[in-house]
Amino acid sequence: MGLDDIRHRIAAAEAAAGRPAGSVTLIAVSKLQPPERVESVLEAGAKVFGENYVQEAQGKWPAWRERWPDVALHLIGPLQSNKARAAIELFDAIHSLDRLSLAERLARISDDTGRRPEVFVQVNTGAEPQKAGVLPDEADALIAVARRLGLNLVGCMAIPPDDADPLPHFRALAAIAKRNDLPGLSMGMSADFETAIAEGATHVRVGSAIFGARTTR
Ligand SMILES: *Cc1c(COP(=O)(O)O)cnc(C)c1O
Repeated sequence: MGLDDIRHRIAAAEAAAGRPAGSVTLIAVSKLQPPERVESVLEAGAKVFGENYVQEAQGKWPAWRERWPDVALHLIGPLQSNKARAAIELFDAIHSLDRLSLAERLARISDDTGRRPEVFVQVNTGAEPQKAGVLPDEADALIAVARRLGLNLVGCMAIPPDDADPLPHFRALAAIAKRNDLPGLSMGMSADFETAIAEGATHVRVGSAIFGARTTR
């Protein structure tokens, strides 16, 4: 457990997969964590953090960013349309583009603000009704529209079903990204990031294995 341990495990997984050192970005998922835990991970030098909720992030991060200005912030949770402007203003990357209307709104706000965060299309690889993400069959069309709208599209993201083997989900996501010429693959969490790295993940989102268990919401 802890940041150093996760960094070592990522380096080992990169090496085992024959991938260059540093090719995987660690996103430290700080949602619902006590502030002192997040501050100790900031002190330890983590540079990329993930949050799920726009409002929670708006409350915590402006002050931290004054102290740690070179930290990047990624939104990894579902994005409601009425939070899109706040998200563009706060985040350097958005991993949860999953519908046409949101793509259009993000493009409009980018035009207004001049801010163009990196965007990942979230794919619901398990076709779970309760989960965000575009269905796999509809991913290519959404990616094409996002490109046409001029979004800063960099990759695909998925959260495999809780109780399933993640491997086929990682492979399905990698196939979608590849056939659409997208270099980024946001996949892998505390329990399975090494498997994700073996399958080509460029961004792993690790929360509890760095910070410990979080308070539920
Ligand atoms: C909470 C969350 C994570 C981190 O989960 P852990 O199991 O704590 O590593 C990663 N990705 C998303 C989308 C999340 O919501």
